[in-house]
Order: sequence, then C-alpha cells, then structure tokens
Amino acid sequence: MRLSRYFLPVLKETPAEAQIVSHRLMLRAGMIKQASAGIYSWLPMGYKVLRNIERIVHEEQIRAGHIPMLMPTLQSADLWQKSGRYEAYGPEMLRLKDRHGRDMLYGPTNEEMITDMVGNFVTSYKSLPLTLYHVQWKFRDEVRPRFGVMRGREFLMKDGYNFDLTKEAALHAYNRHLVSYLRTYERMGLQAIPMRADSGPIGGDYTHEFLVLADTGESEVFYDAEITDLAFGEREIDYDNVAQCDAVLQEFTSRYARTDETHDEAEFAQIPAERQRSARGIEVGQIFYFGTEYSEKLGAYVQNDDGQRVPLHMGSHGIGVSRLVGAIIEASHDDKGIIWPEGVTPFHCGIVNLKQGDDEADAACESLYKALESHGLEPLYDDRNERAGGKFATMDLIGLPWRITVGPRGLKNGVVELTSHRTGVSEEMTPEVAVARVVEIYQAHKPVNAAV
Ligand code: ATP
Ligand code: MG
Repeated sequence: MRLSRYFLPVLKETPAEAQIVSHRLMLRAGMIKQASAGIYSWLPMGYKVLRNIERIVHEEQIRAGHIPMLMPTLQSADLWQKSGRYEAYGPEMLRLKDRHGRDMLYGPTNEEMITDMVGNFVTSYKSLPLTLYHVQWKFRDEVRPRFGVMRGREFLMKDGYNFDLTKEAALHAYNRHLVSYLRTYERMGLQAIPMRADSGPIGGDYTHEFLVLADTGESEVFYDAEITDLAFGEREIDYDNVAQCDAVLQEFTSRYARTDETHDEAEFAQIPAERQRSARGIEVGQIFYFGTEYSEKLGAYVQNDDGQRVPLHMGSHGIGVSRLVGAIIEASHDDKGIIWPEGVTPFHCGIVNLKQGDDEADAACESLYKALESHGLEPLYDDRNERAGGKFATMDLIGLPWRITVGPRGLKNGVVELTSHRTGVSEEMTPEVAVARVVEIYQAHKPVNAAV
C-alpha cells in the first residue's frame, strides 16, 4: 500500500476522552472511529489488525479440529425463554420487537441457538465428538462501556461450543480449547495466563479465564511468578491425544494463578514470598465446561450405544477478538506509539523515502516495494511529499515492527537502513539483503492452515 493512496486519518492531538494508552493510540493511529458509546467503525488499518487476529483464531481452532460456521446476530426470544436466561440476563441484553411484535434480541452469546440446532440434527452418539464455533459480533449493553474496544457494547467474539457424550469426553474438549488458546495468544505475541475463574451465571465447575497482564486491566489477579516463565513454543500437539492435552493443561494450570473472585489467601501464602505476585489483567478469553444443563433445557439428546436417550455434555469457549486489538497494544507500545508483534501487524514493513521526488530514491523505494510484494509481503510505502521527521513520527505511531529507510546519501554507497521498531536498532545493508532479512523474519509468521 502507498500511504498517499491509503485512508489513515492519524490525529495530531491526543484525544481527551481516552483514558488508557491503547484507546489513545487506536484513535491517534486512525484505527477506529466511535459511532456511539461502545460502538466503533473499524477504519482500514484497524480492520486489518482485527482480521489478522481473527485469522489466527480460525487457524488454531481448525488445527484443534473445531468446525467453523456462522450464526446470526439477531435471535428470537423463544429459545432464551426455554433456557430461562431471557429474564435472567437483565438490561445487558438488547431486546427489540420485529414488525409483527415478536420479541427478538441482539445475541450477547449463542449457547441457546447452537444447542437447539445441534439437538435438531444430531441424534446418535456416532456424530460425536463435535465442536462448532463462529466469529461473530455480539451486543451487550454494558453499564459502562469504556477503554475503546476493550469494553465495547458491540464487539467481535469467537465463541465455540463442544458437544460430547460423556463428561470425560467434554473435559478433553475443555483441555483442547485450553491448549489451542495458549497457542493462539502466543502467535499474537501475547502471554495470556490461564487462571482459575468463577463460573458466574453460566454455572458449572470448570472454567479458566485467560489474562494478559497490564496495569490498565480491569481484573485483579494473584499468581506465582513462575507461571510467567511458561511458553507453549513450537511443540507439536496431537489434539486427539487425551493424555497430551491433559499434560499441557497440567503444566499451565498447576501453578497458582487466580482472579480476585477465586483467590485464596491461605493457598497463596504457601508460595514462597519472593514468587507471590498481584497485578492487573485483561481478560482475553474464557473456557467453560458446564455439563448437561442447556442440553436438557433445549432438548439436545442422543442415543448412546445402549440405546438410551442421554443429554449431551457441553462447554462453551470464548475469545475476545476485538478486545485483543486493545490488549495487544497495552502489552506492546512505547512513548511514541504502537509496536505490533509480527503475527498481527497490519503491514509487514514500512518504507520511508527521505527525499520524495529524487529519481534515485524513488526508484529504490519502488523496487523494494515490488520485491517485498513478490515474496507475499505487504509493505506500507510512505510516498508522501513530507519532511522526514513527519514520516518517522507516523511510522512510530502506527507501529510497524520493521522499517526500511531510503535516502540519496545511503544510496550513493549502495545501502538502505533496516530498523527494528522494538529494539530501535538500525543497520545499513544493500536493498537486496534488507528484503531477504524481512522475508526471513516473517517465515515464522506465515498462515499455517489452508482451510481458513
Ligand atoms: P467481562 O468479565 O470482561 O465482562 P465476560 O466474562 O462477561 O467479560 P465472556 O462471556 O467470557 O465475557 O466472553 C468471552 C470474551 O469476550 C471475554 O473473555 C472478553 O475477552 C470478550 N468480551 C466480553 N465482553 C466484552 C466487551 N464488552 N467488549 C469487548 N470484549 C468483550
Ligand atoms: Mg469471561
């Protein structure tokens, strides 16, 4: 993309309404525009990041054997009356009537709809196990929408639902989700810690929340410092292998990590004092196993191999896709702007032309641009007729992890400059070597799943 042709409405002033850094930077970098309280338009660059996050989520869900689909945003109230949540949900649910006076709602989540659907089609244990998911907009009329996309009213969520014959099988689905979530967040450059959570109104005994540590997080958390040394890394996992998934779950949940709702002072005190930590965290996902409650209320039964009719064991599993955009910025920025992790960056590499209109500099930038594109990368070329200072300020603000700077002086010696935004380190090299280096860096961040 050439910046002169893009739509990147950056703001010079810091918007007064934004209280936290990610909200400020998203507004300043022209990523979002508020439409009304807690509801945003995603401007082109914000939309790119949102899509990158969504793609990683899909890739990792499909890798775990979960099946993508799409359910509507508007739901009819009847299913929610069957589950008893139509009244229970309270004013967070946006209720509306269609022209025939029928009660509808904008879905805050989809347990009812999917349980009804699976109950309609699945009749035998032979169709199990089954995990279906979608990435769809949700609406929750939050009392206090704030912090930009972090606590919106309309927000994008991945929500998945497993259907299993037995509790053991459903717990394997739970473990599979935990493993796939660890992998998902790591690919986004985040460490999200699974913490034992409170099951709240959805009920059930098994639930973990995934929290990204950040001072601006809304949750208070308590943990053993050793848990922050854990990384999923490159390990191979067979998602059908119960023991393997269970071993990963044990590894990542055996150390103390709790939200304030499940925190236990006595247990916490057992951890050596130098390892006890309390901090703030941003919830970027949550997994639940909740048994047969929804299946019984909405009629999702199958015949087991004894010919008995039994309700399905279920769980639901969510990732805050749009909240993650803010969470990643909270975890990765400096005083000048965002620093995108390679896995989600809206453009792979910036190209800054220090002397627009200089034939040699223009030609060198064009050829870098084409070379990067020919390797399947997407550069953002700042080809505007602007001072170098302004170009650097824009690049620093929008946060591309790598930048190639091109100027007549360097070109006289046959070199351009490659800069890592994260470390600030710049190195001179030929344009060919710069391209090769950038291509190499992104090898590790290629899409992994052709099915997405
Ligand atoms: P919270 O406690 O933050 O209100 P929740 O526990 O009600 O969230 P879940 O039902 O677990 O949310 O939804 C799954 C994920 O969706 C959450 O982990 C979070 O990342 C995201 N999410 C929930 N509410 C919002 C919101 N208002 N704006 C943006 N993302 C949200
Ligand atoms: Mg939650």
